[in-house]
Amino acid sequence: MIKQSFLLFFSLIMLSLCAKAQQVQQPYIQLLGTAQDAGYPQMGCTRNCCTSAWKTDSLRKYVASFALVDPATKKWWLFEATPDIKEQLHLFQQLTKNAFAFLPEGIFITHAHIGHYTGLMQLGREVMNAQAVPVYVLPKLKSFLETNGPWSQLVKLNNIALHTMQADSQVVINDHISVTAVTVPHRDEYSETAGFKIQAGAKKILFIPDIDKWQKWNSNIVQEVSRTDIALLDATFYDAQELPGRDISEIPHPLVTETMQLFNNSSAAIRNKIFFIHFNHTNPLLWDNNTQKKTLQQGFNIAQQGAKL
Ligand SMILES: [Zn+2]
Ligand SMILES: [Zn+2]
Ligand SMILES: [Zn+2]
Repeated sequence: MIKQSFLLFFSLIMLSLCAKAQQVQQPYIQLLGTAQDAGYPQMGCTRNCCTSAWKTDSLRKYVASFALVDPATKKWWLFEATPDIKEQLHLFQQLTKNAFAFLPEGIFITHAHIGHYTGLMQLGREVMNAQAVPVYVLPKLKSFLETNGPWSQLVKLNNIALHTMQADSQVVINDHISVTAVTVPHRDEYSETAGFKIQAGAKKILFIPDIDKWQKWNSNIVQEVSRTDIALLDATFYDAQELPGRDISEIPHPLVTETMQLFNNSSAAIRNKIFFIHFNHTNPLLWDNNTQKKTLQQGFNIAQQGAKL
C-alpha cells in the first residue's frame, strides 16, 4: 500500500514536471519598448509629461518593439528596428540572462517611419558589421531600403538580407511559428504600413502600432481581437485633450478612448487581450496613475517594457 501510494505520488510529480517543462518551451514575446517613435521623454519637451522622466532614468521608455522568443529552438526574432535598438538588444540579453544569440534570427518591420526602421543602421559597418541579418518587409519598404542611403549600403554590403513579405500571406519561420503581414491605413510617404499577425505555438498575437482610425481599415478590429490571444494596439494618443484645438476626426490615430468605446460591448475576456502600446509622450497612460488605473479597471492592459506575454 505504502509502495503504491509512493508510486502514485512519484508519477504525479513527474507529470507536473513534464507539463511545466512543456510550458517553458512555449514561444512567448518580451516587450522591449512601448513609446511612440520619439521615445519617452521626447526631445525638447519641458512640459509636465516629461519632467519626471528627464530626472528619473527608470521612467524612460524605449520605442515600441518586442522580441518573439522560441525557447524550444533557442532562437528569437525582433519586431521593429527602433532608434533604441542598441539599448533594447542589451536589455534583451539581460532579461534572458544571455541565453540567446545577441542578434536575432530576423527582423520584421512595419513601415518607414523613424521609430520603426532606423535602428537598422546599427547593423552596418560603422557598428556591428552584421552578416546578412534577414529583414522581413512588404514590397514598397523593400525598394525604399534598396534605393535610399544609408540603407542601400546595408543591402549592398550584405549586412542585411531583405525578404519580401506579401500582404496576407504567411511567412513560415519554423514548424510552430509563422508571421503574416496585413496592410493598414497610415501616412504612407515612403512605404506601405504593415500590422503583423503572429502564430507562436498555440498563441496568436496581433501587432498594430500605427494605424489611422480603425474604421478606415478593411478588417473589423473587434473581430480581429476576438480571434487573437494578445493584441498590441496603437495607443499614440489617449484622448483629444492632448491635442487642444484639433478636430478628433483629423487625428490620424485611434484615440485610446475611441478604442475602448469600440470594445464597450465585448466581454471582459476579450478586453483583457488588448495591450495598449506606442505611447506619445503626452499620453497619460505613460505617467498618470489615475488614467492608468481607470484603463486597467475597464479590463484593458497597458504594455510595460520588459513584460513577458
Ligand atoms: Zn510609429
Ligand atoms: Zn513631454
Ligand atoms: Zn508611422
